[in-house]
Amino acid sequence: MKKCPYCAEEVQEEAIKCKHCGEFLNKKPGSKWYLKTSFLVVSFLCIGPFALPLVWLNPHFSQKKKIVISLIVAIVSCWLAIQLMSAFKTISNYYQIIIGME
Ligand SMILES: [Zn+2]
Repeated sequence: MKKCPYCAEEVQEEAIKCKHCGEFLNKKPGSKWYLKTSFLVVSFLCIGPFALPLVWLNPHFSQKKKIVISLIVAIVSCWLAIQLMSAFKTISNYYQIIIGME
């Protein structure tokens, strides 16, 4: 048995939620799930530059670190946009070859 840090009632050792006050026992104050670095990396991979507000809202990062991350994201986004454009060009070239053969 252990004590609930929120209401000081006795709860089971393996309990994830306090049955007396309903608070989750495994959460650590100050480390929110959306501020985790792993979540940030996944967000950048999924939504790219739209994940930047998460960096700016993160109190664990210094101002300098935020600017560096923003710059890196901007450069990578530009590079990806250029890659995508050239990929579209290649595809449209292929289509023109196929259409030209008919
Ligand atoms: Zn409790």
